[in-house]
Amino acid sequence: MFLSVFDVFKIGIGPSSSHTMGPMVAAGRFLDLLRGSPFRPVALRCSLHGSLAFTGVGHATDRAVILGLDGFLPATYDADHAEAALARIRETGEVSPPGLPPLGFRPDLDLVFDYGPPLPGHPNGMTLSARDAQGDTLVSETYYSIGGGFVVTPEEQAAGPGGAARISVPYPFASAAEMLRMSAAAGLSIAEMKRANERAVYSRREVEDGLNRLWTVMSGCIDRGLASEGILPGGLNVRRRAPAIHAALLRERGLNIAPPHTVNDWIGCYAMAVNEENAAGGQVVTAPTNGAAGVVPAVLRYWLDHVPGASASRIGDFLLTASAIGGIVKHNASISGAECGCQAEVGSAAAMAAAGLAQVMGGTPEQVENAAEIALEHHLGMTCDPVKGLVQVPCIERNGLGAIKAVSAASLALRGDGTHFVPLDACIETMRQTGADMSHKYKETSLGGLAVNVPNC
Ligand code: SF4
Repeated sequence: MFLSVFDVFKIGIGPSSSHTMGPMVAAGRFLDLLRGSPFRPVALRCSLHGSLAFTGVGHATDRAVILGLDGFLPATYDADHAEAALARIRETGEVSPPGLPPLGFRPDLDLVFDYGPPLPGHPNGMTLSARDAQGDTLVSETYYSIGGGFVVTPEEQAAGPGGAARISVPYPFASAAEMLRMSAAAGLSIAEMKRANERAVYSRREVEDGLNRLWTVMSGCIDRGLASEGILPGGLNVRRRAPAIHAALLRERGLNIAPPHTVNDWIGCYAMAVNEENAAGGQVVTAPTNGAAGVVPAVLRYWLDHVPGASASRIGDFLLTASAIGGIVKHNASISGAECGCQAEVGSAAAMAAAGLAQVMGGTPEQVENAAEIALEHHLGMTCDPVKGLVQVPCIERNGLGAIKAVSAASLALRGDGTHFVPLDACIETMRQTGADMSHKYKETSLGGLAVNVPNC
């Protein structure tokens, strides 16, 4: 099994990898289908199902689909052009994707939120169709947005992991146990094995430039979040808090005073800065999702700026190790809140960050695996219940707490020798089973939990 670091960490837009990025990617794939089709449709239609319908508006799924059908992609998203494109589409009732003639698409009529039963293959389903002038369907495809910006058709889902997963790599570990066995046999760290795997696909320059680019975007996102005040969009009137916390921390540092637990506030405010940017629709890196995008950058920034001996030369090792854990979780369970609740998003992110931190702080492979397991174990059972379907409450604070837990998990693991009671694989399987048993109310539908117990207007 191989999942590239550049698939686990993808540059995209907020607020949700499964509800914003995924649908935009799906729309792009449907346009590719049309470009290769012999038919000449004149109009498009999209229906959203399951969680995409229930919380789609709060997650800006409608915007993502409309812009995706106009040719926008997450990695190259330009917010200024997007606003102009939305205004044009609403006025003309047409999208103008590159390489295709203009196609009729009236968002009010042609984008349907279907609140009936979800599609059979996944809680996040959508169907795109292209019609002729008589209204008959010429081309149609269903896509499932399975978390982290990944999208599959029902046929791809039935065929199992393909593409990169089938690439031949020197260390094709699909579980934590395999990862540790291969590491011991090869005498390599987890980061070294993961780097060797990436080299089966990318040149040395591509790997290192790509890792640097990921950190540049992550770090830039923290900085924008720390500098951006105001109220987040969506109607909950949630005020951005990261800038004020950061200003207070800087003031206290200048006065040489350190209230108790100050380090937790640094970690928390880095994570909240990212998730406030995400909630505002800004550029983020999925880590492994948008909703959980703050945890990994916060822990990495904490290490770089607050831990003596930290070196930017190890950023790649951190990200590679974190992605190794993310790949194992995704392969054996899920990183989707709609599939397994928030344990799969913030829990997975915490496990990834804990592993990355343990790696760059000199942990053995066993200690790295232990760090990931501690972090994930203590997120088990955590539900997904975003108020008003917005990735704001509880998501923003939850990333702060997830990052703090990740640092504590790495620290505890590094105080041991790597031997521990619960293997990471058992913890991941427990997460999968718990997610399967979890009521759909707690899987990104906003039909339970905080979403129904907090007054939201
Ligand atoms: S509660 Fe967790 S899983 Fe749900 S949207 Fe928020 S961050 Fe994502």
